[in-house]
Amino acid sequence: MRINSQRIILLFTALCVPFACASARAASDTDIKTQPEAVQLLADYLKIDTTNPPGNERLGAEYLAGVLRKNGIEAEIFDTTPNRSCVYARLKGTGKKKAIVLLNHIDVVPARAEDWKFPPFAGEIHNGELWGRGALDMKGMGIIELESMLRLKRSGVKLDRDIIFLATPDEEVGGDHGAKWFKENKPQLIKDAEFLINEGFHIDTDKNGKILYWGVNVAEKSLIWLKVTAKGDAGHASMPIANSAPNRLVRALTRLLDSAPNPIVLPLVQQYFAQISVNESGKTKEAYADVKKALNNPELRDILLKDKMKSAMLINTVSLTVLKSGYKTNVIPAEAYAELDCRLLPGTDHAKFAEEVKSKLADPTLEVTVLESEIAVPSSANTDLFAAIKSVAQTETPGVPVVPVVVQWFTDSHWFRELGITSYGWEPVEQDPEHIATVHGKNERVSMKGLEDGADRLEKVLLKLSKP
Ligand SMILES: [Zn+2]
Repeated sequence: MRINSQRIILLFTALCVPFACASARAASDTDIKTQPEAVQLLADYLKIDTTNPPGNERLGAEYLAGVLRKNGIEAEIFDTTPNRSCVYARLKGTGKKKAIVLLNHIDVVPARAEDWKFPPFAGEIHNGELWGRGALDMKGMGIIELESMLRLKRSGVKLDRDIIFLATPDEEVGGDHGAKWFKENKPQLIKDAEFLINEGFHIDTDKNGKILYWGVNVAEKSLIWLKVTAKGDAGHASMPIANSAPNRLVRALTRLLDSAPNPIVLPLVQQYFAQISVNESGKTKEAYADVKKALNNPELRDILLKDKMKSAMLINTVSLTVLKSGYKTNVIPAEAYAELDCRLLPGTDHAKFAEEVKSKLADPTLEVTVLESEIAVPSSANTDLFAAIKSVAQTETPGVPVVPVVVQWFTDSHWFRELGITSYGWEPVEQDPEHIATVHGKNERVSMKGLEDGADRLEKVLLKLSKP
């Protein structure tokens, strides 16, 4: 999962008191060897440092392939670049139905040991939780996928589809040496796949652990990065230039950033809010129940747009991230530029959006160029895989909504959606806000029960989807 992680890491770094962090360290408070298989597998996997950059995912790939082979499942390792590798394995079914891919990434984002309560690459258990960088993002999910495959293999059940296990490097910095490489170099290995399950969304709970809804990420926002450049005369700062490059840039950016957002309600987003409205009360319930209608009511509109995460499902966002000009206090510079990170809802035309930004900047002397543009194709929520997840959810937690989610971050799913494979970000593990904040942050950990439940749920979904 790629989010804007640097800021979170820096913030946590500043908050950590070194003495407290060091003094709290102790080895696991539980013997790992007495734990269920999934816990033991993840504990060992977390000890392999696959921090990206540089990744060094080959060691992680060898570990996963070793577990598969030990359990009688043939596994292949493909090196994408030196020391960086994919693992590919296939559990054969009858072939009556098309295959399903269980995708996961081997790399993790950096972790500074001094910021953590327990070491990030030791795989220790404390208070019923397994600690380590990647416990949630996404070595934990990788092991849930692996464990469900091992269970199906041992059960001897003949499924109607092949189950493909695919672990890739380099997700955290874009996937060029991972999923993209696989898509371009080994597409024949997954050409028979209809579905794919990857990281993405989870079973959402409140801070007390009450399950609110099962979220299935069926779509991600697209990305467009824009650079806005102003050019003008340079001069001595003792004689201001009203229309200098920095002045014009600042005025234009103010117009853009102050402009009111223009919400777009996609049918699946309308459905998402309506379904989770059961967890709300009062005005929030009213706003969620019919988002389209609520956006015409100033009070309800405010409720919808003040939530940073949920409002991102309703608007194309613009974040001013880079702002540069000048080199000396008494010199008016001849150039100033800004970079904008914009995230667009599925279906938004990128060129039209760039034009919209230009018209809000309202200064034709500024140059607007595209630095990067990635289009994320959504998957349908009306599939057998969605129905299988829903059926397992309804048996386990009757009455709890199962909802399609559009997420604002990027995962490797988009490479596979481009191949026409219906790809869902679905992590069958309960997550509360405190644990979600550890993803790309400090003290990342997963509950041992969560791992077990996750493997159970995934196994059930695969059976439901693939039983003769
Ligand atoms: Zn991830």
